[in-house]
Amino acid sequence: MTSVVFTGIGLLYTADPEREEIEDAALVVDDGLVRWIGRSADAPPADERVDVEGRAVIPGFVDSHAHLVFAGDRTEEFAARMAGRPYTAGGIRSTVAATRRATIPELVSTTALLVSELVMQGATTFEIKSGYGLTVEDERRSLEIACQFTEETTFLGAHVVPPETTADDYVRLVTGPMLEACAPYAKWVDVFCERGAFGEEHSREVLAAGRKAGLRLRVHANQLGPGPGVRLACEMGAASADHCTHLTDADVDALAATGVVATLLPGAEFSTRSPYPDARRLLDAGVTVALATDCNPGSSFTTSMPFCVALAVREMGMTPLEAVRAATRGGARALRRTDVGTLCVGSRADLVILEAPSYVHLAYRPGVPLVAEVWRTGRRLV
Ligand SMILES: [Zn+2]
Repeated sequence: MTSVVFTGIGLLYTADPEREEIEDAALVVDDGLVRWIGRSADAPPADERVDVEGRAVIPGFVDSHAHLVFAGDRTEEFAARMAGRPYTAGGIRSTVAATRRATIPELVSTTALLVSELVMQGATTFEIKSGYGLTVEDERRSLEIACQFTEETTFLGAHVVPPETTADDYVRLVTGPMLEACAPYAKWVDVFCERGAFGEEHSREVLAAGRKAGLRLRVHANQLGPGPGVRLACEMGAASADHCTHLTDADVDALAATGVVATLLPGAEFSTRSPYPDARRLLDAGVTVALATDCNPGSSFTTSMPFCVALAVREMGMTPLEAVRAATRGGARALRRTDVGTLCVGSRADLVILEAPSYVHLAYRPGVPLVAEVWRTGRRLV
């Protein structure tokens, strides 16, 4: 593989706490990894040279929360909501019906389209959940499809109780035959712990069974109101509690004390016209914060990490630096990854060249296509 030296980087944001920003920087990648970082004037030679011409470079975004395997569309529900109807978890069921009707090639092609959107907007690592099948075979095939696109696959059989069954019976299915069929295709298990979805005891059962099957834990927690989700995530040692929109002081303390990442998903609040999570309160308490898209057809149909960064800055009290850190290193922490989300010697060579002199422009110029080039494992994708 040819080595590449990137020179003339006006501002390199590394997300490495040791040396987070370097002006007038250069970076060498070889064999898929970052091999050297320093001042442009000191850059060693390489097989290929890319002159960034004063633009900013950041690590590829890590989108640690996305629901990409589904069929159908919920345009009308969105339009109705914008006309004043509130969001409830039940709308998931219409996507479930469409997903069950879809063929595997149809699901693969819609997932591929969303993945390409994510990558075009700078995401180089992303998680994909199941959760729109809700039968043993429909969940299994969703995860089998997800595996074609990422190693970060999450079994979310416990997304909502399907209409044909009761919560008790469904949790027995999720923790039994469905888990058995899905575990070979999943790295993570997740549960939508929320009023209208799964209560505390059922959520604990789902997580415990997943862990016993060798999966790691993440939780949809405290999105629509206060509840036990964050506490449960902390108690069970989940990597991440996602949403965290409605938190008590005890929830914030528990996140800080346990190191469970708070993954904030501002696309959901934007698209449901709901109050945003208070990122400032979490950061001030010492909680690790991640930002992710929550891409799904119901409550957050965006694949844009830059859009989430802009929302976090404008609406959630984060500085541009904190938001970009949360969208890179924070996302990696939420997936317990140390090889991505930062640019240090030895990191995977995943980087984004911005059509801007600074990462601040991601928030300062919202909605503008600033992602000029995307490189993953040392290869140019965009
Ligand atoms: Zn979600």
